[in-house]
Amino acid sequence: MPVLIDEPASVQLIVGAQWGDEGKGKIIDLLSERARMVVRFSGGDNAGHTVVNPHGEFKLHLVPSGIFYPDVTCILGNGVVVNPGSLLAEIDDLHKHGVDAARLFISDRAHLIMPYHLVLDGLEEKRRGAKAIGTTLKGIGPAFTDKVARQGIRAGDLLNKTTLRSRLAELLDLKNAIITRVYGAPALSLDQVYDEYSGYADRLAPRVRQTEIMLHDAIARKEAVLLEGAQGTLLDPDFGTYPYTTSSSPLAGNACIGAGLGPGQIDHVIGVAKAYSTRVGGGPMPTELKDATGELIRERAHEFGATTGRPRRCGWFDAVAVRFAARLNGFSSIALTRLDILDIFPSVKICVAYRAGGKTIDHFPSDTDLLERCEPVYEELHGWQTPTERSRQFGALPAAAQKYVERIEKLIGCPAGIVSVGARREETIVVNPLPA
Ligand code: GDP
Repeated sequence: MPVLIDEPASVQLIVGAQWGDEGKGKIIDLLSERARMVVRFSGGDNAGHTVVNPHGEFKLHLVPSGIFYPDVTCILGNGVVVNPGSLLAEIDDLHKHGVDAARLFISDRAHLIMPYHLVLDGLEEKRRGAKAIGTTLKGIGPAFTDKVARQGIRAGDLLNKTTLRSRLAELLDLKNAIITRVYGAPALSLDQVYDEYSGYADRLAPRVRQTEIMLHDAIARKEAVLLEGAQGTLLDPDFGTYPYTTSSSPLAGNACIGAGLGPGQIDHVIGVAKAYSTRVGGGPMPTELKDATGELIRERAHEFGATTGRPRRCGWFDAVAVRFAARLNGFSSIALTRLDILDIFPSVKICVAYRAGGKTIDHFPSDTDLLERCEPVYEELHGWQTPTERSRQFGALPAAAQKYVERIEKLIGCPAGIVSVGARREETIVVNPLPA
């Protein structure tokens, strides 16, 4: 039985179990109370956490959700790509709301998103036409591509402006050739890009550190550390619905690489899953509801992206997909969020298998075309039609809601350690002891 909150001196890893937007922000905000360090390890400002706490409602894209606690050191690890302009805007916004971001640090190994990454993101999506991935157009994919292609500029380069300028000059030549000759778009000016980034360097340099050392020291001091995932398992470039995937791995395994620690140092892996499913952008989603029920979930849950404002595709809980996520990440437990959204339905459905080509499929297919053809096989359970937002103990939930959670636990092979029934911190049930 995983102990989730009453074990401060441990390393906990929080990852999304579906297609992102599972409510990780709330869970991390909650768990940060006992933590001394929160480390983001993947993605960029395409991630969008919404946190509602006594300071107000915040949409964080890069800054780890632990920032609201003055004793928590927040780190953007080497596995993150950083847009310095949007990071500074986020820091300024936090300051405006009385939140001090002085304890936020950036790994010197983290790659920077450059203006040409945003330009190329837009041009590449346009070229894909009807097959557009639905990226957030924030340059994340092109920045990760450059990292692997050894054509990146890292946060550490902000510390030496001579290196920054010469590296930029060399790379911009190549990028401008692609922008102008392949896409026929206007070239970017070296002076303009340099001046902009030189300004960012002045403000961000004091935050640039070898952050893996800070992490190692915190672990050695037996401080509680949270590793904060972005996006969700089913967007993983390897195990997600390729090519409708994100460009860095959101999986538990990548936390080690993107933060700089070993698998044996992680004590608990918590998967965050919504009590239903959502997806933003293109790609298969077997339980998508294109009917009034889907619309009702979207409206009731305000399912519009925190980063892009795009309406999210909504549907019933997909236990095949979340079981896959539980296995890929080795979840110790899940945090099941947004149970309250289902409060109004007379009955609720869980997808327990897929059907395609006359066959029943009980696993998440690697073939994206096959997944596109999959029809969900549903199990229908009684709804509870009672508000759950005031429940603070598992036993206080309506019986049908308890059955719903327990059925999900059984189907995905993993206990629910936390059940969330509202956006606010207190609207949370810590299931401890776990339901039998
Ligand atoms: P994240 O990227 O995984 O953090 O997810 P988002 O922030 O995009 O979406 C989660 C949304 O759900 C936010 O608006 C949260 O405030 C909200 N939220 C989180 N948990 C709950 C819950 O249990 N019930 C309700 N109604 N809202 C929740």
